[in-house]
Parts: sequence; C-alpha cells; structure tokens
Amino acid sequence: MHNQIRYYSVPGGHIHSNFTCRGGSIGVFTQRISHPELNSLSPTKAAARIGLPLCGHCFPGEAEQVKQQAAAKAADDGYCTQVHVPSEIMAKVARLYRPHGECPACGRDVAISKLGKFRKHKRP
Ligand SMILES: [Zn+2]
Ligand SMILES: [Zn+2]
Repeated sequence: MHNQIRYYSVPGGHIHSNFTCRGGSIGVFTQRISHPELNSLSPTKAAARIGLPLCGHCFPGEAEQVKQQAAAKAADDGYCTQVHVPSEIMAKVARLYRPHGECPACGRDVAISKLGKFRKHKRP
C-alpha cells in the first residue's frame, strides 16, 4: 500500500495538497512531483524546504501566512525587496508610462518593475 502523499510540487509553480488542484492551475500534462519525504512537515515548513510558494487554493491560510512572513523578512534590513504588487494596484497602473504605487509593506510610493514587483526601496 502507498502512503498518503500530503504534498505535490509543480516545478516553477506552487506546492499543492492534491494531485489535481481544485484551483484549476494544474493541467493534464502539468509535471508534478510527489514529496512523501515531507509528509511529517507542516505546510509552511514543507514550502521552506522545497523553496516554492504554497498554492492559495490548497493551503489558503498558510499561503497568506508565508506571504506575510516573506514581506516581514524582506523588511528586516530596512529595505523592501521582492514585494509583489497587489492585482488591484497593478490593474490601475499597468498602463502608466512609469508605473508606481503604494507598497503594502511600508506605505511608500514606489516604482513598479515590469515583472509586477515593487523596486527595492528603503523603508521610511
Ligand atoms: Zn493547489
Ligand atoms: Zn516598501
């Protein structure tokens, strides 16, 4: 008998709790890796071990927690780095010649890169 697998990862994607994610991001041909070795770990620990973000559909609570921890960590040295631009801000500024918006981590008005991240900036 096989053990129940708790975690699946999609290379370059997210960690899921199910072979077929109900979020719909996994297709028939999507490559999935099962992680029986992570069965005993909590979702946040498993994510840290693999180095991929948790799927927001499979781990709604934990995914949010990880995001906040990442934002707090990014702020540790006095700079915000790799802060993701919330989609509601992105929708408003995407067509600007030089997009910028309010960083959710520190409240500064910051330039936004083409990758949808706030540029690294010092916290006020
Ligand atoms: Zn999922
Ligand atoms: Zn900031």
